[in-house]
Amino acid sequence: MDDAILSITGLSIHYPTSTGIVKAVDNVSFSLPRGKVVGLVGESGCGKSTLGLAILKLMRPPGEIVAGKILLDGENLIDKDEAQMRRIRGPKVSMVFQDPMTSLNPLIRLDRHFLETIDAHERNVGKDDAMARINKLVEHLGISSSRLREFPHELSGGMRQRIMIGLALILNPKLIIADEPTNSLDVIVEAHFLDLLKGLQKEYNLTILLITHNMGIVAQLADRVAVMYAGRIVEEAGVMDLFARPLHPYTKGLLSSIPNIEVDQMRLYTMPGSPPDLTDPPPGCPFHPRCPNKMSICDKKTPHDIITDGRHVECFLYGGKDA
Ligand code: SF4
Repeated sequence: MDDAILSITGLSIHYPTSTGIVKAVDNVSFSLPRGKVVGLVGESGCGKSTLGLAILKLMRPPGEIVAGKILLDGENLIDKDEAQMRRIRGPKVSMVFQDPMTSLNPLIRLDRHFLETIDAHERNVGKDDAMARINKLVEHLGISSSRLREFPHELSGGMRQRIMIGLALILNPKLIIADEPTNSLDVIVEAHFLDLLKGLQKEYNLTILLITHNMGIVAQLADRVAVMYAGRIVEEAGVMDLFARPLHPYTKGLLSSIPNIEVDQMRLYTMPGSPPDLTDPPPGCPFHPRCPNKMSICDKKTPHDIITDGRHVECFLYGGKDA
């Protein structure tokens, strides 16, 4: 893809466990175009958060990257050691986690969170200059700078999540990974937060990888969407294309499960079955036990690298049967 800030090729991440190897991410390739928002969607346990953490090399042991490349502006992050990654996390790519209460230190005031972040990366910035920058940013996020002397628990959930965005932006990275950033917010605060995120993305020309199970959020914010199932990206497309014409049966199922107030419907569609056990995934296409379009080839071979209408879709309905 032209001018990709992040390009992932053939990435596989395994977790050895007492019951076998969990293939949390299995041969994933995709790119993030600069200045765009890409939604990464799928059910819980499909590998989307693991993929986000892997970009920053923050997976918990025993998780390990067993294959692939992660190119950030052409630099392969797989080759970086921990000291080098510490210099990349923050100034080049940063992350907004699901729950600010587990990410912010409850024992230190908010200004210290910012000061310590700046001090870790920009040793020559004095405290007054750092505070001027912090005050300006938090005011821009709609929080009075006087609140910076407070502790995390003294803020509302929406304010805490705005502080998390501020911490992610304070070192001016161009890439932000936001992992379910609205999970802890109610719908009203969520709507305000999404508006803020959309505004910041345009203003700072940010590239955002938005990890979520919520297709509504993707529809509001994303330019492109990658759909994950059982550790694989099964479909990737522009957001309008994907919503107007989903191709993969799993994507169709996800979209059919969204309530539509314009349709008179007694029962909402639910996809049969549940995601596979990744220590022992089904043979062939991992979606075949739940797929309404299953064919005889589907439990024998795994669909790979199928492109139809310029769209990546891992499904034999769109080719690959003869490969
Ligand atoms: Fe369904 Fe077969 Fe396509 Fe898999 S490859 S999604 S089982 S039709």
